[in-house]
Amino acid sequence: MRSIVLGGAGFIGSHLVDRLLARGDEVVAVDSLLTGRRDNADRNGGNPRYQFLQHDICRPIPVDGRAEAVFNLASPASPIDYAKLPLETLDVGSMGTRQALDLARRAGATLIHASTSEVYGDPLEHPQREEYFGNVNPIGPRSCYDEAKRFAEALVTSYARVHRLPARIARIFNTYGPRMRADDGRVVPAFVTQALRGEDFTVFGDGTQTRSFCYVDDLVSGLLALQEKGDSRPVNLGNPREMTLIEFADTIRKVVGKGGRVRSVRPLPENDPKQRRPDITRARTLLGWEPKVSLEEGLAPTVAYFRRELAL
Ligand code: NAD
Ligand code: UDP
Repeated sequence: MRSIVLGGAGFIGSHLVDRLLARGDEVVAVDSLLTGRRDNADRNGGNPRYQFLQHDICRPIPVDGRAEAVFNLASPASPIDYAKLPLETLDVGSMGTRQALDLARRAGATLIHASTSEVYGDPLEHPQREEYFGNVNPIGPRSCYDEAKRFAEALVTSYARVHRLPARIARIFNTYGPRMRADDGRVVPAFVTQALRGEDFTVFGDGTQTRSFCYVDDLVSGLLALQEKGDSRPVNLGNPREMTLIEFADTIRKVVGKGGRVRSVRPLPENDPKQRRPDITRARTLLGWEPKVSLEEGLAPTVAYFRRELAL
């Protein structure tokens, strides 16, 4: 099998590349390194089945030949990244997704597109099922990301219909693990690095907002199951164990063995979802997939990774 991973030098993309190589695939990773890391791009450099191409996927993607799968993970993903890069985020969701589709069509491949729970916005339905249309502010601070991802879903769906392209949409919920950037601003790197330094946890709002955290290995298994068994409908991929940020900080304090107090440092950012939990019934029935790694099990290698990153 030959697989192409767009966004292959990113956090999830690099784990996916490792798993595809382990599966025996030939892998081409394409990434502009906008928010990804050269280290991730180079980590499989010695493998003759691996090739890396630095390229912005908003322009035609210069990869020739047949492939079984094109995974499209290219996009800034953390709130501070897309706040800094709003136009790049909109471009990659629109023009980049279009190039990904054209590439998949040329290669005779299935497109597996990384969408997000952000398509549900600040959800008024809980837990979120794929049938829910969402509650998104089209001009708010998160809209560059949310609407780019919603547009991308519309584009993938229409393109697949018009060109009879096999396409899959993964709605990914908060995912964590080694290789996240310590400074990406997301709550997992923020809280783990704060605990390791013995600092207080910087909570936005009062900490009662909820999230559900999925370990990256589980998420990658979900993407592979989606490639194999999915159909044209979007599928939620995430861990349904939901907790408040206060409970999350407590869990991290236990796993790290230290950490300060929970301190509210600023109001909840505008449009920050107050609750989030995936309904994964479709993933269970269609793909036979569900997460296997508990939060405590997933945090152990994540904490070890951040300890090395911070040289602590
Ligand atoms: P990441 O920032 O680590 O990875 C994204 C990669 O895409 C980076 O390596 C970046 O350089 C690359 N990229 C961005 N724009 C590009 C362009 N125009 N051309 C080529 N490469 C480009 O983020 P991640 O957390 O690994 O997220 C991967 C995908 O999964 C994203 O599409 C994101 O929206 C989606 N997702 C992630 C999460 C999560 O919790 N991590 C949740 C929901 C959805
Ligand atoms: N958050 C926080 N402190 C931080 C970083 C994030 O309280 O240092 C909150 C953020 O406001 C949100 C939740 O943690 O309510 C998850 O944020 P993250 O950026 O990880 O992902 P999101 O789910 O918002 O995309």
